Amino acid sequence: MEKAAHTTGIAFAGLISRPPLKLEGVEVYVCPATAHAEFADEPVRLVPGDKPDKFTWDARQNGEPLAIVDRFSSTLQVPRAAIQSYLHQHYLGSRFPTVNLKVTFKLDGWPSQSFYLRVRLDAQPLPHLANWYRGDPHVHSAYTDNPAERGHGLEVTRQAALDAGLDWIVLSDHSTDLNPERFAAELDEVRKYRDARFVFVRGEEVTVASGKAVLLSTLHLLALPSPDDPDRGFGPTPPEAVIATGDGSITSPAMSLGDALDVIARAGGFAYAAHPFDPISPLLRGGVWDLDVDFLDRNPARQGQLQKGLVGLEPWNRATTATADDPGDPYCIRRDADPARCFHSDAAQNQYTRLENGIATGWQPLLQKGLPASAAAAVGDAPAFKTLLVAGSDAHGDFNYESTLDAVDFLADPSRAWSGYAEDNALGTLATVVYCPQGMGPRGENVLRALRQGASVLSNGPLLAAAFVSGTTKDTSLDDPSAVPVGGVVSAALTALPPLALGWVSSTEFGPLSVIRLVLGSRAGEHAEEIPVPEGKEMTSGGLVPIDLRGRLAHQAGEWGYVRLEAHSRNSAGEESRCYTNPLWFRITGP
Ligand SMILES: [Zn+2]
Ligand SMILES: [Zn+2]
Repeated sequence: MEKAAHTTGIAFAGLISRPPLKLEGVEVYVCPATAHAEFADEPVRLVPGDKPDKFTWDARQNGEPLAIVDRFSSTLQVPRAAIQSYLHQHYLGSRFPTVNLKVTFKLDGWPSQSFYLRVRLDAQPLPHLANWYRGDPHVHSAYTDNPAERGHGLEVTRQAALDAGLDWIVLSDHSTDLNPERFAAELDEVRKYRDARFVFVRGEEVTVASGKAVLLSTLHLLALPSPDDPDRGFGPTPPEAVIATGDGSITSPAMSLGDALDVIARAGGFAYAAHPFDPISPLLRGGVWDLDVDFLDRNPARQGQLQKGLVGLEPWNRATTATADDPGDPYCIRRDADPARCFHSDAAQNQYTRLENGIATGWQPLLQKGLPASAAAAVGDAPAFKTLLVAGSDAHGDFNYESTLDAVDFLADPSRAWSGYAEDNALGTLATVVYCPQGMGPRGENVLRALRQGASVLSNGPLLAAAFVSGTTKDTSLDDPSAVPVGGVVSAALTALPPLALGWVSSTEFGPLSVIRLVLGSRAGEHAEEIPVPEGKEMTSGGLVPIDLRGRLAHQAGEWGYVRLEAHSRNSAGEESRCYTNPLWFRITGP
């Protein structure tokens, strides 16, 4: 809660002032998420005994409301036992898998404000494969603080991430909201809230100027620190470790993309292009990346290679399938509300539409350009460059759905200027899952190595992992010392090419695998085919399933190519979930 919107870089900020908000308390109501259930009149009581507690959480002291002068943030934990006993008291039935929540803020001198949420109780664990760690490389915390976006503190973010089934998070707060002091304070908190179970890494989402000579054309860059020293930041010495790039306003200058990549690479770090073909609010100035000008190195000696420090792109950004105009009631829990304001699908905003567009217009062309560049560079068994994929939720602020106050949308929908809008994107709904056979590392060292190598898959549910495995014992697994996992490189004569071994797992939440797509890339383009899911193995491969690629690669002698995979699953509600692997590169040296 806050007295006035925090603003950075917006000149009219100083003109807005309001008296302190006076908070009396917060009431929480729960009802089953079934068609005709309505909220009871009485809030959930969190104070034990017979005390006549009017409020679920009473903010008053000596009968006086809590004055919020600037900003106030607090976590109210509602124990599951309190919810269950409340439901048993007020509703028929014994098990309520999904519930609606009404959270009412009682303010002195203002009308009460209610927000509606939907929560799944007792959700199953997410699909898991040994040595793969599910995480999110693109999350905003309270260190992001501007007119459109802000997140929560690290303690709450960590709890939400654990509840959502994540093992690690890279904090990617906006460079326009950071300075040396804030960046140092963030590291102190990162150190405090990471342990053997959960790892925070401090990264940065850097606003940079595109190489295109277009006014106001800035891009977003996900900067990740050195895997050898994740706490180092991005400069030679603190406090320069932060890349601070103005205040984000239209008149504020941004560092050039080339200079930012140079700083990141010198510090041992690396970077992904954030939402490169998915322009976001001009307020945050995140524009569209240009293949030739922004992705590729313009030095003739490095023709066809990614700019130094850049390893890939994030075309899967925000796990959206539906949007709502009312962030206070995104699930349209109040049945009497205007149905037009309920969650509704928007084909252009759907995550798969945006992802497929990013793959077709960005990733495939870059992978294609990489193959001849690899051949020309003659660098032994390593391709001259790989272009990797990463997926990030870009969650900020809300853990139940994403809500953004976006004044720019005022032009499209005047109601949004005041209320913002909501999307069904939240922390944990979209993940990058990294392969770390040695564990994540105490500071996330191995998570970062996997993100730099491409030993990772992208998922909003099921997992599909792949490796070239030459071992022949029955114990053969991805952890076999001979295994080359996704992101890796194999160079072999055709007869000696090891089989590609696949392993997968889903859950009832995401449903059985319906399709596995195998995509082979060569200089001639990509060729996709569907691999039938073996009967009885729709939920899990139960071990490795080998595929012999040799018959498909006979014509590729002497050339580089790659193989990548996609899995689709569908649950009983008809919802589709997907997993995309990073490629494995190979060169067939002869027959
Ligand atoms: Zn961004
Ligand atoms: Zn972001």
